[in-house]
Amino acid sequence: MNAATEPKTNLLGLDRTGLTEFIVGLGEKPFRARQLLTWLYKRRVADFGAMTDLAKGFRERLAAVAEVRLPEVLSEHVSHDGTRKWLLKAAASADATAAPLQAIEMVFIPEPGRGTLCISSQVGCAMDCSFCSTGAQGFNRNLSTAEIVGQVWLANSLLGAAADGARAVTNVVLMGMGEPLANYRNVLPALSVFMDDLCFDLSRRRVTLSTSGLVPQMYRLAEDTNCALAVSLHAPNDELRNQLVPINRRHPIKELLEACWHYLDAQNGRSITFEYVLLDGVNDQPEHAIELARLLRGRDAKVNLIPFNPFPGNQYRRSGREAIARFCDLLHERAITATVRRTRGDDIDAACGQLAGEVTDRVTVRLGSKRFGMAVEA
Ligand code: SAH
Ligand code: SF4
Repeated sequence: MNAATEPKTNLLGLDRTGLTEFIVGLGEKPFRARQLLTWLYKRRVADFGAMTDLAKGFRERLAAVAEVRLPEVLSEHVSHDGTRKWLLKAAASADATAAPLQAIEMVFIPEPGRGTLCISSQVGCAMDCSFCSTGAQGFNRNLSTAEIVGQVWLANSLLGAAADGARAVTNVVLMGMGEPLANYRNVLPALSVFMDDLCFDLSRRRVTLSTSGLVPQMYRLAEDTNCALAVSLHAPNDELRNQLVPINRRHPIKELLEACWHYLDAQNGRSITFEYVLLDGVNDQPEHAIELARLLRGRDAKVNLIPFNPFPGNQYRRSGREAIARFCDLLHERAITATVRRTRGDDIDAACGQLAGEVTDRVTVRLGSKRFGMAVEA
């Protein structure tokens, strides 16, 4: 392949280490990476020609071999409560059996003093959790680091953050489509870009990775980074969790919790959030709350109770208000910190995945009536 046909490197796919190597490979001094990162992330400038403190020859070389390419917006939806959701086009995979149109979602949830962006890490998911329609859609492909970082870059740009460098996105949660730890290789550099003070400069508590419990990767994560961790528990015993979160058959609750406490110790972290989707009559009974409290007692743990987001073709129902309140009270009575996640953006299907599912349904016979479905942190 000659230089003219070789694909350009998307710089959003490189963290500080990767970019430094890239720059050195072009024959430039390593410190140029700092300048370039400042242009890209502090000033949000993507045009190399405008990067005036870089030598003209270097700018031309960059333009020839590199680019800043963002995910393409297919549609935008704004809720009456200010929640915004974008359906983004993920470039088609080389795999001929993959769906022809691949869509991912990101959701922005504004709150006083902060703006949370919920981003995707994969197109589809292989974990097959029984209450999740991203899971029902199956695994399509991993997102690249550039596609993961590009979501935050794009959101800041679409939200028109002030030119003084203030950004709309103050918190990033990997709770959209996909299992981030199943795409470890591409997610790790993205976490680094989110937290690097030369890039998005978000503190470790403002970047949350949510996992269904890939235990070996949780140990790796403890070595490699220190972002906040959320764990999708959803059941207080193995019998029930095996049904809801099939990865539990490989890594049961005891093993999962050991990995959680190890993560906290290794990272000197403040606490782990346990997500618990409340499914009517399935995992929302008082005995479940009592059993859950027993698992977490005395630990640095918070429980985030999530009202189930129904989607067509799924057998579960959202728990009633009373059941949710009772569950939460039973945890509080046992000194477990618990909150009920507010549902946001209901009028625009802001539960990550639902719009993507609709688009995919229209274009793929293979997927039939399966839809994506995901909750967002509110
Ligand atoms: N794969 C990761 C991260 C994405 S899922 C994980 O499972 O943690 C983000 C959160 O949304 C998880 O806690 C997941 O269990 C929850 N979720 C999935 N489907 C849902 C639904 N239909 N209603 C409510 N929450 C759902
Ligand atoms: Fe995948 Fe998370 Fe959905 Fe389970 S809940 S299928 S891990 S996206």
